[in-house]
Amino acid sequence: NAVVFWFKRDLRIRDNKGLSLAGKKAREAGIPLLCVFVVSPQDYQAHLTSPARVDFELRTLAILKRDLAELDVPLVVETIVKRKKVPEYLTGLCEELGARHLFCNIEYEVDELRRETLLTKRCLEKDIDFSAVHDDVVVAPGRLKTGTGNQYAVYSPWFRSWIRHVHENPELLDEWETPGKNPPSARDKYEHLFDNHIPPAPENKKLGDEEKERFAHLWPAGEHEAMGRLSKFLNEKIGRYQAGRNFPASNSTALISVHHSAGTLAARMSVREARNVNNTKKLDGGNPGIAGWISEIAWRDFYKHVLAHWPYVCMNKPFKYEYTSIEWEYNDDHFDKWRNGQTGFPIVDAAMRQLNHMAYMHNRCRMIVASFLAKDLLLDWRLGEKYFMEHLIDGDFASNNGGWGFSASTGVDPQPYFRIFNPLLQSEKFDADGEYIRKWVPELRDVKGKAIHDPYGRGEGKLAAKNGYPKPVVDHKICRERALARYKAGIGRD
Ligand code: FAD
Repeated sequence: NAVVFWFKRDLRIRDNKGLSLAGKKAREAGIPLLCVFVVSPQDYQAHLTSPARVDFELRTLAILKRDLAELDVPLVVETIVKRKKVPEYLTGLCEELGARHLFCNIEYEVDELRRETLLTKRCLEKDIDFSAVHDDVVVAPGRLKTGTGNQYAVYSPWFRSWIRHVHENPELLDEWETPGKNPPSARDKYEHLFDNHIPPAPENKKLGDEEKERFAHLWPAGEHEAMGRLSKFLNEKIGRYQAGRNFPASNSTALISVHHSAGTLAARMSVREARNVNNTKKLDGGNPGIAGWISEIAWRDFYKHVLAHWPYVCMNKPFKYEYTSIEWEYNDDHFDKWRNGQTGFPIVDAAMRQLNHMAYMHNRCRMIVASFLAKDLLLDWRLGEKYFMEHLIDGDFASNNGGWGFSASTGVDPQPYFRIFNPLLQSEKFDADGEYIRKWVPELRDVKGKAIHDPYGRGEGKLAAKNGYPKPVVDHKICRERALARYKAGIGRD
């Protein structure tokens, strides 16, 4: 007999609830713990997983495998070509290994929940005891209800309720025990599983050599790196987080989203450790930087609750159903300019180039480019949402969908449609000295003063043109009026 733990987007040993429960079961029964990770190229394809993210996962798996081996726990990494076959593969593996217990953590996307429903059925047929537990979020979806018993659709009251719930249930932040060593006999019995190697990325998700090197340097993988980043941020930066978080050149944020999203770091652990460096146990009190950072992690929970309660957001539908009828422009040239950072709006171009180079973009800039795509270019926000998923290393369906819905005014608790970001004002406010723009748009490096935000409008057109920087692709004032009219007309229709 044995216990199997199935890793997904929870690629860590420390503070992993499902793994901890699996380890406990194994210890109490005196049987070994065995682990598995399924590489599913169809899932990567269906979920638009970026090659940078696939690479990050594979690099993490190598570290995880090594760390588990130190506990005499094997990690089987298996590629299953057809994703519908995953439940069958897992129950088959349990049978082959003589395991009667299968554990995993829950993922909230529709495809994943359907897969787990099928897996539950198969486990029942095969008499395998299957446990799927909440781990990815601090508070499980469905726990927080409005006064009338509904799911919150507005962040602020939801957040107050989230805070209250965690204060009343402080054990939600407790660390889950790390599994102990397997009995010595496990190493001999399962020797063949220790040899199993990490496969290369599927052909259509492969990185070139230069990209591989670049991302390995920018985003070192694994949970030790995640812990290191977290403690450095907590020791050196969190106090200034609230003041600096909106300024992309200030390097004030934790740069930790890839770890939350791949599960190399538990959101629970981030909140707990942040609380532990505060001067109060209250999650919304004490140092404003700490409280502010915790509230950003809560946004992540919020969007997962939305996804779990309104699964249609997974199906290419706007959360606000009345926004389905907006008439978008279908301008391929504009979309190409947007994604290549060639719109002639320096802050937008800097941000898109950051994304294309780092597989990451600062949060303020994500809002600016999303608003620009949906409101200035009046392109369907789903094009942008998809492009982000295909390129972000931290791509996470719920947060990405939520962020796009917010910026395009089609989502849950969104920016009202008539509040349209002016890219010039955003640039002047959040990159006043143009430091971020100069970093990512080398054509404008020599542009002095305020002209950096609008070189053609502020007398530096010659220099910009000489360096090959394009003129603005649209006129913001005209686009603003067009967006207001189209949104109004779209919502007016049934
Ligand atoms: P910090 O500012 O240090 O925040 C700490 C953590 O809180 C982050 O690591 C992240 O896990 C969470 N967080 C912060 N802000 C948000 C937010 N607005 N929504 C949800 N969680 C948040 N985040 C993703 O993880 N994956 C995505 O695919 C994603 N797509 C986005 C798309 C758009 C259009 C927008 C506006 C935002 C998106 N975000 C996404 C949220 C946010 O931009 C990133 O989480 C943040 O920039 C990550 O940088 P950081 O780790 O330095 O964050």
